[in-house]
Amino acid sequence: MADFSGPLPGAEPDAAALIAARPHLTMNADHGLMLEGVPLAVIAAELGSPCWVYGAETIRTRLAALRAALAKAGLGATDFHYAVKANDHLAILAIMAAAGAGADVVSGGELARARHAGIPASHIVYSGVGKSFRDLQLAVGEGIGQVNVESREELAMLSAVAEAAGRRVDLVLRVNPDVDAKTHAKITTGLAENKFGIAWAEVESVYAYAGSLPGLNPVGLAMHIGSQIVSVEPFDTAFARMAEMIGRLRAAGHTVTRLDCGGGIGISYEDGSGIALDDYAGVMAKHLGSLGLKLMMEPGRWLVGPAGLLLSSVIIAKKTGNRAFLVLDAAMNDLVRPAMYDAWHGIVPVAAADFGTPDMPVDVVGPVCETGDTFAKDRLLPALGPDALVAILDAGAYGAVMSSTYNARPLAAAALVDGDRWTTVTPRQQVTELWSRETVPAWLTETAGETG
Ligand SMILES: *Cc1c(COP(=O)(O)O)cnc(C)c1O
Repeated sequence: MADFSGPLPGAEPDAAALIAARPHLTMNADHGLMLEGVPLAVIAAELGSPCWVYGAETIRTRLAALRAALAKAGLGATDFHYAVKANDHLAILAIMAAAGAGADVVSGGELARARHAGIPASHIVYSGVGKSFRDLQLAVGEGIGQVNVESREELAMLSAVAEAAGRRVDLVLRVNPDVDAKTHAKITTGLAENKFGIAWAEVESVYAYAGSLPGLNPVGLAMHIGSQIVSVEPFDTAFARMAEMIGRLRAAGHTVTRLDCGGGIGISYEDGSGIALDDYAGVMAKHLGSLGLKLMMEPGRWLVGPAGLLLSSVIIAKKTGNRAFLVLDAAMNDLVRPAMYDAWHGIVPVAAADFGTPDMPVDVVGPVCETGDTFAKDRLLPALGPDALVAILDAGAYGAVMSSTYNARPLAAAALVDGDRWTTVTPRQQVTELWSRETVPAWLTETAGETG
C-alpha cells in the first residue's frame, strides 16, 4: 500500500529529481518546464488552466519500449490491446492505432470510441464484468475480435447474441487466479473475493460449457489481477497459475491457443523506478513462452500515465493558523486519484524563476467544497503566488476520463504535444454546456395562482 500512496513525508523527491526521472520533461532556463519540445507556459497562455497536456512521442516511445522488452525475452509476437479506459481521448486512440495497437474496451461506448478512432473491430477485445445484451449485440454485429467472458451466465447471453447474428464469436475466459496484486484495495481485481472473472475451481467446467454452446469458439484464457502493480511477484505467481490451468484444459482435450495477460503494470509516480520491463517480460517468457500460445496484453496506465500532466495555476496562497495552503484552479473533479485512491502525484512549478530550492511545506488543494479535494499534504514547494503555474505529473491515465463537473466546474481543456508541435485537442467546456441537456418542466414555472 505504501507503494501506492507515495513516499514518506520528508523522503519525497523534489522537483529536480522528478524532472530528471522523466525524459519527456525538461526545465529550460528561458522557457520553463517543457513537455517534449513545447513550453507548457505557451499552452497555458493560449488554453488557460486547468488543462491536460499529453505527449504523443512519449506514448509512442513507451509502447516501443514495452514491445522491445518482450521481443528481447523472445515474445515479440505479442498482441497489444490498449486499455481504453485509462485515457479514451480520440487523439490518444489514434496514436495507438497508428502504432499498430488494438483496443481493450469495457463498454459499448468505449467500443464506439475505438471504432471512431479507426481501430478495426477485429483488433478490439471486449472485457468487463457486466456487458449488457445490447452492448454484446453491438460488439458481435461489428465483428469484435475477442470477447473476454467473465461468467457462465454471460456465456449463455453471448451465445444467444451470436446465434441471432449468425456469427461465431472467439472468446477467452477471464480467470480469477486468486493472486494478491499487493496494490490499492480499490484496484485489486484478482482475489477470489473480487467481482471479476471465473473462480479458479470452475474454470474447467465453464470452458467445457462454452464449447458446448452454439455460436461460441472458446480459444483461451484471460487474466487481469489489478492495476498499478509495482513488483513482478504477483505476475510471476499469476502467470504460473495460468500456465498450470492451460495444461489442465489441454489435458482434458480442449484447444487453448490464446492467453490474454491483461494490464496492470505499475508506473513510478515518484522517482522513476517502478517495475522493470525486463523482469516483467522475463516472468512472462518463463511461464508462458514455450506453450505455443498467441500472447496478448492490455496495458493502460503504463503507456499513457507518465505521458500526461495536468496544468494548473494558483488561485490563492493562504495561511490559516500554522498551516499553509496553495489553492489551485484544478480540483478533485478534474483529477480524482488523490481523493479516491490516496494517490501521490508529483507537483512541480512551471516557470524557471519558480524552480529552485523548495522552501516550505504546503497543502496543495483545489477549490471544491470537500476536504478530500487535496492533491498533496505538506508538500515542499517554493513560495508561489497567484497565477503561478504548476504541473501535476503522471496524470495521463485515469485522469480526464474520471473527471466530473462537480461544483459546476466545466471540464478542462486538453492539448496534445508531438515533438515540437502542439494543438488543442479538447476546448474548455463552456459553462452553458453544463445545463444544455437539462429541461425544467413547464408546470414548475407557471405563474403562481394558476392551476393546471
Ligand atoms: C483496467 C484494465 C486494464 C488496464 O489496466 P492498467 O493498470 O491501466 O494497465 C486491462 N485489462 C482490463 C480487463 C482492465 O479492466
